[in-house]
Amino acid sequence: VMAISVPLTLGAVSLVGWYLGGMAMQPIRHTYAHLQRFTSDASHELRAPLAAILSNAQVGLMSPLEAGQPKHIRLEKIAQTAKSMNQLVTELLFLARQAGRLDANSIRSIHLNNLLKETIATASVQSVAHHLTLDTELPEENIFINGNPDLLMQAIANLLTNACKYTLPGGKVYLRLVSQYHRILIHVEDTGIGICATDLPHIFERFYRVDAQRSRDKGGTGLGLAIAHQIIAAHGGYLTASSQIGRGSLFQIEFPVV
Ligand code: ADP
Repeated sequence: VMAISVPLTLGAVSLVGWYLGGMAMQPIRHTYAHLQRFTSDASHELRAPLAAILSNAQVGLMSPLEAGQPKHIRLEKIAQTAKSMNQLVTELLFLARQAGRLDANSIRSIHLNNLLKETIATASVQSVAHHLTLDTELPEENIFINGNPDLLMQAIANLLTNACKYTLPGGKVYLRLVSQYHRILIHVEDTGIGICATDLPHIFERFYRVDAQRSRDKGGTGLGLAIAHQIIAAHGGYLTASSQIGRGSLFQIEFPVV
């Protein structure tokens, strides 16, 4: 259990209390059993959309007289399912290729304040679409770390996308950059639906979803957090989460300063 020592004041709301004790540390070990589970999950995740594509195509082919609307709907379903399958394969390949390492040639000195500003620009589109307020808190001082800017941006964007997806309209999403003498923190926080204590230790596992249907409906693959976790670990950082059902969630990226 890790306590957050940063004073968190979010407008009128202070969310410090309920985070203490709720922090989940997730060292993910990839044992043989994990690999087996992953292979079976991945085949299941790929087979389900393939089956939908096949059956829509077959029914469409078997009824050549089916004209106009119904055929079009079937084609739309095929295209939609193929699109989400494509996303899934892309994310799976990313996890396999990147494999938790950083390519030495891709490492640069990153101006975190600017990187966060760029990431917010994309997230603000989603927050508007979901009727959410997006608040950011960046320090005056310039904060730098060494790493791959594209990957870091993707990790933070995944967290922001989730915050928007799992927060009801009217809610709030906060992005915060905090520099302390021995560590740098990035917080992505929301006032969303929250994650219960039994699910919390598993959310960084590949394909783990609290509610698979809800995740799929929102275009999720169940890999976003696994990818974010892998990217942050490759940077020598830690990604942890704390949450309370009905109150919201806090995802914390921590980079130790050496
Ligand atoms: P998905 O594609 O399903 O969103 P992720 O790996 O990004 O997959 O997240 C895993 C699961 O963790 C999600 O299905 C969701 O149940 C839960 N989750 C992630 N972020 C949040 C959040 N900010 N609030 C509530 N639940 C979340």
